[in-house]
Amino acid sequence: MSTQAPHLTAAQERSLRDIFPGDSLLLAPEQTLIFATDAGRRMGTPLAVVRPTTEAQVVELLRLAQAEHLPVYARGRASNQVGACVPARPGIVVSLLHMNRILDIADDDFVAEVEPGVVTSDLQRAVEARGLFYPPDPASIDISTIGGNVATCAGGMRALKYGVTREYVLGLTAVLPGGRVLRTGGRCHKNVVGLDLTRLFVGSEGTLGIVTRIALKLLPLPQATATLLAGFSSMEAAMHGVRRIFRAGILPVALEFLSPEVLDCVARRQPPPWPDSVRGALLIRLDGSRESLPLEIRRMHDALHTTGAAPGNEPPVWSAHGVGHDEEEPLWAMRRGISPSSYLVRPNKIGEDIAVPRGRLLDALTGIRAIAQAHDLPILTYGHVGDGNIHVNIMFDGADQAEVTRADAATVEVMRLVRSMDGTLSGEHGVGMAKKEFLHLQLSPLETELMRQVKHAFDPLGIMNPDKAY
Ligand SMILES: Cc1cc2nc3c(=O)[nH]c(=O)nc-3n(C[C@H](O)[C@H](O)[C@H](O)COP(=O)(O)OP(=O)(O)OC[C@H]3O[C@@H](n4cnc5c(N)ncnc54)[C@H](O)[C@@H]3O)c2cc1C
Repeated sequence: MSTQAPHLTAAQERSLRDIFPGDSLLLAPEQTLIFATDAGRRMGTPLAVVRPTTEAQVVELLRLAQAEHLPVYARGRASNQVGACVPARPGIVVSLLHMNRILDIADDDFVAEVEPGVVTSDLQRAVEARGLFYPPDPASIDISTIGGNVATCAGGMRALKYGVTREYVLGLTAVLPGGRVLRTGGRCHKNVVGLDLTRLFVGSEGTLGIVTRIALKLLPLPQATATLLAGFSSMEAAMHGVRRIFRAGILPVALEFLSPEVLDCVARRQPPPWPDSVRGALLIRLDGSRESLPLEIRRMHDALHTTGAAPGNEPPVWSAHGVGHDEEEPLWAMRRGISPSSYLVRPNKIGEDIAVPRGRLLDALTGIRAIAQAHDLPILTYGHVGDGNIHVNIMFDGADQAEVTRADAATVEVMRLVRSMDGTLSGEHGVGMAKKEFLHLQLSPLETELMRQVKHAFDPLGIMNPDKAY
C-alpha cells in the first residue's frame, strides 16, 4: 500500500496555474489547511484551493476537473455545521468569496442579482437602503453567503411568515462538470415553463454544479416591527400559547421557543429579566405598517391571554416587549446568546435541527426530555417552533468516553423519535457528512435512487462534492 500523501500531478498544477494566476491558487499546506474544515469541525484534504473572480475561470476549472476526474468542493463562508463543504476525498476547494458583487438591484422588478460570494447581511443592508426587503435571515447572516444559503436552502427566524431561501430564488447560473453553463429561471416572480431546475439547485449542497449568479425576489420593506417575550409556567403552557396564536389567525414573523433548560442556561451567563416561575418562553416578532402594528400587538396580547379550560392552557406569567430595532435588540441578543451559553453546560455538543409536524411539537419536546433523562445528559431544545423546527443540542464532555457513547446513543434515539412522528432529520442545516448515516430513516430506496440519477445527469463522473448529502 502506498504511504504517499495524495497530491496533484505536475501537469494538473500547471493547468491550475494557467487558470488561476498569483494568489488565486493556493497549494501550500499551511495556506490550504483552513479550507479543510467548516463549522461542523470535520476535516478533509484540499489538494488545492482556487479563488475565481469570473465565471470563465469556473468554466475552465470544471473542464479540467472533469477531464482529470478531480473532486470539486464549492465553498462560501464555511458556516454550515454538517461538513457540507469539507473535501471528504482529496480534491479542489473552490472558494467563491471573491465573486462577491451585487450586480443589480432593480426597484421596479423587485429583483436583486448577485454573485454567490455576497455575504447575506450585506445584501440585506443594500436592499433595505432602497426600501426593499430580502427576508431569509439565518442566524449566520453575517458569516454566510448567498451562494451557501442557496445551496443549503437556508432558513431563519423570519421563515414562519416569509419562507426560506427557496421562495426567493427566481433564477440562477450554474457551471456544470465539463464546463457546461446552465442558466435557469429568470427575473419573473412566476414561471411554470418546464421542470423547475432552479429549485433543484436550492438545497443541493454543491453536488450538481457551482452557482455563479443568482436572481433573488425582493419584497417591500415592512415599516415597523415589534417583539414580545412571553414567559410561561411550563413547556406545555408555552405550546398551548403557540396554538392560541395560530387559532387567533395571527401569523407572526418569528415564533421562537425556549425550553426551561435553555432559560436556565442563558441565566448562567447573565442575570435574566424573568422570574423563577418562568419555565418556558416564546419570543415573538410582528411586523406591519405604522398604523397596523399596534393593532397586531393588541391581537397577540388577547390571543395569549384568552385561555381555555384544558389543563396547562394558561396565560403567560411574565412578559416583556420592545417596539422598533433599539428596543427589540436586547430580546434578540438573548436569543443569539443561547448557543454560546450552551457551552457552560458541557464543553461539547451534537447539534441537530429536526422538524416535526406542528401538531406534534409537544410530543417531540416531551420525548426528547425523556431521552435526556434516560441517558443522563443535558439536552437543550429551542428554536423555530412556529415552523415545527427545533434545535436539539445534546451536550456532553468529549473527554468523558461514557458521555460520548451516551450522546451518540441519544442522537440515534432523537432521530428515530422524529421519524416516528413523520418529522424530518433536518429543517435547515442539511445533510452534508453529518446526517448521511441516518438518511435511510427518512429516504426510501426509490427516492435515493432517483436523486442519484438526477445527480448523474448533471455530474456523470460524480466529481461534485462526492460522498455527501444523498
Ligand atoms: C452560528 C451559526 C448559526 C446558523 N444559523 C442558521 C440558521 O438560522 N438557518 C440556517 O439555515 N442555517 C444556519 N446556519 C448554517 C449555515 O450558516 C448555513 O447553512 C449557510 O447557508 C451556509 O452558508 P455558507 O456561505 O457558509 O456556505 P458553506 O458552509 O461554505 O457551504 C455550504 C454548502 O453550500 C455549497 N456551496 C456554497 N457555495 C456554493 C456555490 N456557489 N455553488 C454551489 N454550491 C455552493 C457548499 O459546497 C456546501 O455544500 C448557521 C451556522 C452557524 C455557524
